[in-house]
Amino acid sequence: MAANPPVVVTGASGLIAKYTIAEFLRRGFAVRGTLRSMDKADEVRRALAKLGCDPEKVSFIVADLSGDGGWDEAVAGSEIVVHTASPFPIAQPNDPEEVIRPAVDGTLRVLRAATRGAVGRVVLTSSTVAIFYPSDVPKGHVYSEADVTDETRRDLTPYIKSKTIAEKAAWDFIESEPGAPALVVINPSFVQGPALDGDLSTSHELYRVMARGVYPAVPRISFPVADVRDVAAAHVKGALTPEAEGNRYLIGEGQMSLYGLGRIVARELPDLASKVPKFELPDFAVRALATVDKRMRTVLPELGEQKAYSNENAKKGLGLDLRPADEAATAAIRSLRELKLI
Ligand code: NDP
Repeated sequence: MAANPPVVVTGASGLIAKYTIAEFLRRGFAVRGTLRSMDKADEVRRALAKLGCDPEKVSFIVADLSGDGGWDEAVAGSEIVVHTASPFPIAQPNDPEEVIRPAVDGTLRVLRAATRGAVGRVVLTSSTVAIFYPSDVPKGHVYSEADVTDETRRDLTPYIKSKTIAEKAAWDFIESEPGAPALVVINPSFVQGPALDGDLSTSHELYRVMARGVYPAVPRISFPVADVRDVAAAHVKGALTPEAEGNRYLIGEGQMSLYGLGRIVARELPDLASKVPKFELPDFAVRALATVDKRMRTVLPELGEQKAYSNENAKKGLGLDLRPADEAATAAIRSLRELKLI
């Protein structure tokens, strides 16, 4: 084993990955990132420089979730692998397998390579969507890491299924495979916080769509929010805290409605006030629309619902101090304006 083995971060071009890599570099680790194309290496280096880090401390290896090539090389000699890569489309595909297969098969590829390479710990980026949709919960239920989405529910999007099945496959693998690494799972909610460049994460894309005036009205849906800086800190603490092994950590602070996000855009950028949603659609109207517009069906399980949840595990177990939803959303909007993207 090398004296200072690099931490491996898969999907190095992603928003969460860039912040996570920067956090490891600040702590003195070298990082090896995987990319599905080397074309994005310079973009990642620029983002790291913007975050005040030395981009020379990162190396890259090409590996795609859909193929076996590169994964053994990527994890070789490493003790910690952070697996963030997963398809995260803004529009759901017609064939759910387009999202589910790379997410699940890719997670297993990373875990198998980590087992062959005697990696000590894998930190997996799952999502609160793998928590928030069990088959049966009482009204007023407070969601936590004890909850697991039932992927057989018929009202789930391909993305929700992909994250749920991938996380379950990871836990099953760890339990059944001799010599498998320890697993820590981070379950972030809707990620906000500062964008770094024009390669926008799906969660930032939403603002660009909103700023075009595409949504005069929005359904009554809310979601917990996490700041990407806290999500990155969660991954690093998940990697380095001995007691984190075998745990999931729900990351989120506060709630935000789609309409509320638009109000923050209008507050921060008054020139866009006329573009953001003017009102919330009544639930009955959304249900009626969903009978003719397939895209609307994906919001039906959320209509009018605010999910109560606990983030105590992350705060106590990982010692995280989470930024509130308004601060995270405001930082996202200001960064997008600075980048001239909205
Ligand atoms: P990004 O879209 O910025 O990052 C996704 C990353 O996955 C990119 O690096 C992308 O590579 C990579 N990827 C996608 N498909 C493949 C593939 N077939 N092979 C290899 N790499 C692939 O989004 P985030 O940073 O937000 O997402 C990172 C992780 O966080 C994902 O697992 C996502 O599900 C999870 N997450 C995100 C939340 C959010 O609100 N943003 C909330 C909860 C969880 P490329 O650049 O080449 O496309």
